[in-house]
Amino acid sequence: MSGRDDPDGLRAYREKRDFARTGEPAGDETGTGGPVPVFVIQKHAARRLHYDLRLEIGGVLASWAVPKGPSTDPARKRLAVRTEDHPLDYAGFEGVIPAGEYGGGTVMVWDRGIYENLRAAKADDGADMPRSLADGTIEVRLEGEKLRGAWALVRTRGRFGKPGDENWLLIKKRDAEADPGADVTGERPDSVLTGRSLDQIAEEEDAAAGG
Ligand code: MN
Repeated sequence: MSGRDDPDGLRAYREKRDFARTGEPAGDETGTGGPVPVFVIQKHAARRLHYDLRLEIGGVLASWAVPKGPSTDPARKRLAVRTEDHPLDYAGFEGVIPAGEYGGGTVMVWDRGIYENLRAAKADDGADMPRSLADGTIEVRLEGEKLRGAWALVRTRGRFGKPGDENWLLIKKRDAEADPGADVTGERPDSVLTGRSLDQIAEEEDAAAGG
């Protein structure tokens, strides 16, 4: 995906969007990130509601669309379809993508925090995040406001989704933060950034646009 004409790996992201029409970040502010990598989960009411999980890897946000959202029940593996890398400053984006534009609909910062690469700490493994992404086996400890503890993302050869999709599974690992009885998306539906619901974000953006 990288090359001379795609120095930061964001060409696919930019090609899908018209920044004269959408308020999403253009990805001009490419950076190396902070000392600790971040993650974000954006709740996205596009044609179908889904949750976009993004992990900072190599100066961009590696991204997956999770149709059902995360589950804190280790028995509930959730399909996560890999999507194009996003710029780091996308982690702060909450608002409305205009109808007719790519991903048109309301975007909420549903959870946000930092993560630790658990494979890097294993003496017999030591894989960094780019390696984990290439391997198709990611193990991280999330420190968000809603999601915490150990989670795995595993690329699957299973026949889920559409042809050409890169399908992964998002799985809560068994630890003190696992909670089979909880419904985290249902019980905690609102933004960690502003406390707003999807409807409130849509209404306030509409008012701000004078519409
Ligand atoms: Mn999305």
